[in-house]
Amino acid sequence: MKTTKEIEQLEKIPIKALKEKIKSIREELPKEEQNIVTFSKNFTLSLSNYCQNQCGYCFYNQHVSKEILEQYIALIEENKINDLIQAAIKFGCTEALLMSGESPDKFEVVQKELEKRNYSNFNQFVKRLSEKLLEFNLLPHTNIGALSFDELKYLKDTNASMGLMIESTCETLSKPGGVHENSPNKTPETRIKHIIDAGKLKIPFTTGLLLGIGERFQDRIKDLYLIKELHQKYGHIQEVIIQNFTEKSRIPYHPKKPINIEETLKTAGVAKLIFENDIAIQVPPNLIQNYEKEALEMGIDDFGGISPFTIDYINPHHAWPKIPLLEKLCMSFGYELKERLPIYKKFIDKNGFCSEIIKKTIKRIDLNVRSEKDS
Ligand code: SF4
Repeated sequence: MKTTKEIEQLEKIPIKALKEKIKSIREELPKEEQNIVTFSKNFTLSLSNYCQNQCGYCFYNQHVSKEILEQYIALIEENKINDLIQAAIKFGCTEALLMSGESPDKFEVVQKELEKRNYSNFNQFVKRLSEKLLEFNLLPHTNIGALSFDELKYLKDTNASMGLMIESTCETLSKPGGVHENSPNKTPETRIKHIIDAGKLKIPFTTGLLLGIGERFQDRIKDLYLIKELHQKYGHIQEVIIQNFTEKSRIPYHPKKPINIEETLKTAGVAKLIFENDIAIQVPPNLIQNYEKEALEMGIDDFGGISPFTIDYINPHHAWPKIPLLEKLCMSFGYELKERLPIYKKFIDKNGFCSEIIKKTIKRIDLNVRSEKDS
């Protein structure tokens, strides 16, 4: 546990000193890895945007009228799934991001759809879909809100990795006027338990902070230390996302003090000091456009999932960068943009973290890449 003084020192660290410390952390990596930044070529399957919570900043649930998103997805159509799979193959994606609102099958409209297609519950639908994706060499990464230990266990083997943002454990967010006031299941305890359970089950895991939702800088530092503590115990966190809230039309939430990109990147830099080279720090490139150089100087390791053909369902007004353009941009700053899988290399052979079916799929992907290069 860090003292208030230590946390204050990190909050007040001047940018120049922060960058210098980050530089020396990166220099601890083998020379050939020091200037590498990764991404995963992915596509999103938005399974259902029905959600039992109603977070004040969220565009992705059934309460918000949509302009860009498909209207109210109760359950993604089979035709749509097939079309997305074909496009993913065409574009050479390796990661299928499965996302939905939390516990969508608590809504009758979703339940009826599931019944119509012979699924007894939503998790079974997710599991069958994951099996189908694996047949096409697409590695699922599922983030469908808070799940129980048994639900995570059920989904583990068919997922290369899974995720849940801790967002913020700041208690005022759940109080009247806070962004989680109408989100009964969005308690810090529920989310921490989910991350612990994923650790007990040895699931390679992605979590992160959502900035600009009413938390203070010090809250963020405390949450980063909390994530570190969980990782020290279970060794399962492969990346931490530092994501800034962006204003959205039809979302009435406006932070009292809007988060700017400089502050987002400073948080990423502080995260790098805390996690050093043990856990990758990720920022979504579509939310920090024109600040890529600063992001790299703040020690980020990863740009996360970038899709060549599906939108960012959480921030639909922010288009993904074109991968070749991002590659060129990184190169101009002295960095190499390198593709990775949704499971980080070090977790593939880590005891118990990667199921046989995922290992087999990874092998097939490797073989495909090799034969494409040879031809
Ligand atoms: S739990 Fe997730 S999907 Fe549901 S309202 Fe909150 S942010 Fe949106």
